[in-house]
Amino acid sequence: MRAIIFDSEICVVSNFAKPERKAGWSLIRLIKGGICNTDLEILKGYMNFKGVMGHEFIGEVVESDKVELIGKRIVGEINAACGICTTCLVGLGRFCPNRSVLGIQSLNGCFSDFFVLPDRNIHIVAPEISDNQAVFIEPLAAAYEVTEQIIPQECFKCVVLGDGKLGVLCAWVLSTFCADVTIVGKHSEKLQKAFWNGIKTVNLSESMPSDCDLTVEATGTIGGLQNALEITKPRGVVALKSTVAGMEKINLSLAVVKEISIIGSRCGPFYKALQGMKAHHFPVERLVDGEYKIEEGIKAFQKARERGVAKILLNNCAKEL
Ligand SMILES: [Zn+2]
Ligand SMILES: [Zn+2]
Repeated sequence: MRAIIFDSEICVVSNFAKPERKAGWSLIRLIKGGICNTDLEILKGYMNFKGVMGHEFIGEVVESDKVELIGKRIVGEINAACGICTTCLVGLGRFCPNRSVLGIQSLNGCFSDFFVLPDRNIHIVAPEISDNQAVFIEPLAAAYEVTEQIIPQECFKCVVLGDGKLGVLCAWVLSTFCADVTIVGKHSEKLQKAFWNGIKTVNLSESMPSDCDLTVEATGTIGGLQNALEITKPRGVVALKSTVAGMEKINLSLAVVKEISIIGSRCGPFYKALQGMKAHHFPVERLVDGEYKIEEGIKAFQKARERGVAKILLNNCAKEL
């Protein structure tokens, strides 16, 4: 089968072995995949991952012990937990110390014709959610995670730093809870795409917001945290969404002086993202900047790295592009 692989460099192969399905796991055919910032970080060495890349997808179950899944359009949570350790037994399988993670840690990802995931990770996609919308369920769930960790009050002043895909999704989700949401970015074309549901957009070169109750740091840089601490009000909250491969020094004294809570925020609840997509019709189509076939993987990643480009999709539909 075809696969996009990372092993110190990215390459596309056509003879990768089709994965074996274990009991309790499903074999999934890729319909569409989405290239995410984490994939770009993996190219720089994040998680030391080697194997088939990709974790954002919509697929079709082709083999499963759960017959009700076969033939269904599905999305899947990316953490494959052991299910038996103490962390798993308290319902926190996402943090299982023995977990593998689709396309990120010890588990081949979804940028191939076929891949496998545990049955319990799989969610059926309602027909009213399109393929392209479904590819955004994984990052949308990550955006909803912030609202699981800190319940946003309607009166909150919220700021999202970073106009990349995840930043935009975080702003859109927060705007369904809070009236005052601002997204701060560097790229006017990206900020334009973020404009929705009363969200204010601010260019980094303009004057920054201040006294925020909740600041989401999604710049993909360490420096974003410093800015976040500066604009957050005393006793406010900073949610960190950036996964950065590098290590830089940062001065945390502002967090102490202003008693700011810093929370790390990663993957989130798929059911909330699926409900949210149905209820709010987040305009994710405008974030799609191109679609490529699996064999065009190198070109697709080159495009995804270009400045100003939001989401690049890998299209594995039967229909020709
Ligand atoms: Zn992702
Ligand atoms: Zn476990």
